[in-house]
Amino acid sequence: MPSHDVLIVGAGLAGMRAAVAVPSHLNVGIISKVHPVRSHSVAAEGGINAAIRDEDTWESHMYDTVKGSDWLGDQEAIEILCKSAPEDIMALERMGALFSRDPEGRIAQRNFGGLGFPRTCYVADRTGHALVHLLYEQLLKRAAKVYEEWYVTSLIVEEGQCCGVVVMNLFTGELSTIGAKSVIMATGGYGRVYLISTNGLINTGDGMAMAYRAGVPLQDMEFVQFHPTTLKSTGILITEGARGEGGYLFNSRGERFMSTYAPSAMELASRDVVSRAEYEEIMAGRGVDGCVMLDLRHLGKEKIMEKLPQIWELSLTYAGVDPIEAPIPVTPGVHYSMGGIPTNIQCETPLPGLYAAGECACVSIHGANRLGGNALMETIVYGRRAGEFASAYAEKAKTISYSDQAFKQQQARIAALMSRKEGERIGALREAIGTIMAEHFGISRTKERMEAGLEKLAAIRKRIPNIVLQDHSKVFNLELVDALQLQSIFELAEVTAAGATVREESRGAHSRPDFPNRNDADWMKHTLAYREESGPRLDYKPVNITKIPPAERKY
Ligand SMILES: Cc1cc2nc3c(=O)[nH]c(=O)nc-3n(C[C@H](O)[C@H](O)[C@H](O)COP(=O)(O)OP(=O)(O)OC[C@H]3O[C@@H](n4cnc5c(N)ncnc54)[C@H](O)[C@@H]3O)c2cc1C
Repeated sequence: MPSHDVLIVGAGLAGMRAAVAVPSHLNVGIISKVHPVRSHSVAAEGGINAAIRDEDTWESHMYDTVKGSDWLGDQEAIEILCKSAPEDIMALERMGALFSRDPEGRIAQRNFGGLGFPRTCYVADRTGHALVHLLYEQLLKRAAKVYEEWYVTSLIVEEGQCCGVVVMNLFTGELSTIGAKSVIMATGGYGRVYLISTNGLINTGDGMAMAYRAGVPLQDMEFVQFHPTTLKSTGILITEGARGEGGYLFNSRGERFMSTYAPSAMELASRDVVSRAEYEEIMAGRGVDGCVMLDLRHLGKEKIMEKLPQIWELSLTYAGVDPIEAPIPVTPGVHYSMGGIPTNIQCETPLPGLYAAGECACVSIHGANRLGGNALMETIVYGRRAGEFASAYAEKAKTISYSDQAFKQQQARIAALMSRKEGERIGALREAIGTIMAEHFGISRTKERMEAGLEKLAAIRKRIPNIVLQDHSKVFNLELVDALQLQSIFELAEVTAAGATVREESRGAHSRPDFPNRNDADWMKHTLAYREESGPRLDYKPVNITKIPPAERKY
């Protein structure tokens, strides 16, 4: 069986940045269920935050991030991000990143929500595309072994130590194991637990679910970000850069309604605040066909085509609206997972040998609400750190040895799916879970609504073991992959719902009309969900506060 010093699951920005950070004398492998450049990172639009100007400081970036997190982010981790960001941006530039420029020829920066300084670096509105291709080149240069279109089904854990993964080669359907001295999870978010999302179809949270099944708790999963501007009926993201470049939001009366909710920051308040404002406008009957309007017309054709060409194209193609001529209909949509696999600042999870970085991890930069532009920076800073720390661990680790127990378990799991003759179809179950999450655990969460949602999820739990497949072939059996993903989606939905229902406060993205205020005395703590046979068991741990004491959040 193949083995590596460092094995990375996931080839988005976090995974590839980690691979590139592994020193050349170590043997690194990286696995992805899709070709690396099709990872969701490629879809990132608006940009990446770093305090690179003399007039800006990492302290100010840190303050904005802590405030954005509604004081649930861990400050030591945030400090590392904000201090490292400028150097990490320069490292990307030295690798060849073609950031957009200002008239003086410096890396241009735009305004983003919740920032006290325009510090979002960008490549037009295709920042993720540019960075993913850049790091893919670096990955090839680093000569890492890439297992492309291989699907990891579980971790191998023996004697309390993570020592590899069980994986299916999608080309052949063959199941095998890959050993490793250290494993890094970089599997991205779980936006697809909800029916409609800005996320790619592949964002099913597999890595979080695998860690959860291996006994690692999941942290702060009730904090799911709703982005304020997704294109009507499609879930397609309209970047915050559109407001950063000066776009306005209007209701059906033609009012710039953000003046009521965030009089100073207006459209550039943090995402939770803007999404909630839109929701309230729509609920109060001041929406337009269930949307609000994003107006870019005053920016003019030249600026739109230079700074937001993709937004122009998406809006025209998928909504039939030319933003140069007319406002774009937008609504809040599921976008980002603030929670994930808990790690310390060395990217270590509670399971020895297992590291995590990027959207699947929760080192807790974002706390209860992420600022736009900070996720990409996290993939780069913490992806690099995960590569460095997992390498140091691998250097000291002994040889790799494990039994065939995990392999046999996964073989049995797949055999059970393949052999069942009748039962539940995947599509129906997936739609049911996505709908429950959207209706009961959305932007506005009341006790009654969430408890009803929990009951519906309990009914789904009984149906999950009956999944039936129609495709029994071995080669590229994507229905089998869907079935495995569905099992992950369900468990993550349960964890999200459980954490949300008991958190009796409103903080960041978790908003409860029945508990409208933040409650630091009882709830300034991270949720940890442990897997038990009957469902998640919740526990809590303190928030790390070093520099910025809790204060009221106003924009
Ligand atoms: C439309 C959109 C626009 C965004 N724009 C911005 C932005 O402008 N700025 C910003 O800061 N953030 C943005 N974000 C958020 C940011 O892009 C993501 O948080 C970040 O790119 C995630 O990177 P990642 O490396 O953690 O995961 P991903 O890029 O999602 O990669 C996950 C990897 O894991 C692999 N994988 C998953 N499961 C398995 C498995 N079972 N077996 C094998 N491989 C597996 C996948 O194949 C993939 O390679 C945006 C997000 C979206 C959806």
